[in-house]
Amino acid sequence: MLASSKNQPMNELPLMKETEGIVLFYPNVPKESIDLVTGVLNSRWIGQGPRVEEFEKMFEARFAPNGKALSVGSGTDALHLSYILADLKPGDEIAVPVFTCTATNIPFLYMGCVIKFVDVDPKTLNINIEHLRQVVNEKTKAIVCVHYGGLPCDMDEIQAIADKYGIPVIEDAAHALGATYKGKKIGEISDFTMFSFQAIKHITTGDGGMVTMKNKELAKKGARVRWFGIDRENKQRGIWENDITEVGYKYQMTDIAAAMGIAGLHTFDEVLAHRRKLLLAYEQGLEGIPGISFIGKGYQDREHAAWLCTAMVENRVGLMTKLREHKIESAQVHYRNDRYSIFGGRSNELPNMDAIEDKYLVLPLHPKLGVSDVNVICNVIKRGW
Ligand SMILES: *Cc1c(COP(=O)(O)O)cnc(C)c1O
Repeated sequence: MLASSKNQPMNELPLMKETEGIVLFYPNVPKESIDLVTGVLNSRWIGQGPRVEEFEKMFEARFAPNGKALSVGSGTDALHLSYILADLKPGDEIAVPVFTCTATNIPFLYMGCVIKFVDVDPKTLNINIEHLRQVVNEKTKAIVCVHYGGLPCDMDEIQAIADKYGIPVIEDAAHALGATYKGKKIGEISDFTMFSFQAIKHITTGDGGMVTMKNKELAKKGARVRWFGIDRENKQRGIWENDITEVGYKYQMTDIAAAMGIAGLHTFDEVLAHRRKLLLAYEQGLEGIPGISFIGKGYQDREHAAWLCTAMVENRVGLMTKLREHKIESAQVHYRNDRYSIFGGRSNELPNMDAIEDKYLVLPLHPKLGVSDVNVICNVIKRGW
């Protein structure tokens, strides 16, 4: 943790000194969120109330102008809720990315769905379109993709495969708030898009999540499933018939969290621009350096949300050790999901994943860092490892 962070105004982006160490992640808590949360704590509503609705409306206007946004308690809740709304059933086959946060795929274990892992595209670590074509068949009931690090997947190609079988696409956009694909916002493209406001994401609500969806009718079901299966609006208006006909969960967001989300949206443009600047500084700073290269570069038809800076490196352990000597954190962050016993262990033929699994490395990128910090990191790397 940063010793000096207490003395810095929270809505500024103070630079870290090398002596303090450069951490991989740092939560983005704008100063305004303290006032907004205090306001909620002094009010009658602290659970799901007016701030939740306000946050959803703001989010919808920004990221899903023709759809509907539903907030929930976490990104994982948002994924599970999307899978329920996509009407996925026990035994259904789902094509999913092998390289992602386990949260993408664990809800399928709750639901008894059959997970079919799809290999990575080595240029981006996003889902591999050729392999996806081979995995999807008549038994497949949905395609899930994750915009790894914040670079959008090949959405046109994914949608074409889904259309061929008449199945929904669910985007895990936990890394991709603010990304665009061919001029469209991530959040308005597929049937369902999920976002996370976990502690270290672009915007944080402590924990929280959002689903955006095209089908506004379905959002009504989503609001019920989010709250035990109860139509809360009718209940509050006193016209609820007092029956529950669908099994629901306790997946709502609170007004305390939503207040943080609102503050996060107010400062989002600044944060996104800053993250993009840092990513570019890494790419330019290490251009042409042997033994290290960056994934996801050079796309003109999509805009990166710059959540992670991921490099492909030779002798990864060597570089991590060298960075650690300079008090610079680095890590893998996500691992191939088929390494975990809950998913049945390694059983797939995933040659691209096999080829990169000992090479990828995530470098520090967060709003407390400045370009000068990135330059410090680049200079350490340039001296070799
Ligand atoms: C963070 C994350 C999630 C899970 O979100 P939570 O809010 O932590 O539940 C899902 N998928 C990806 C790719 C993530 O990075």
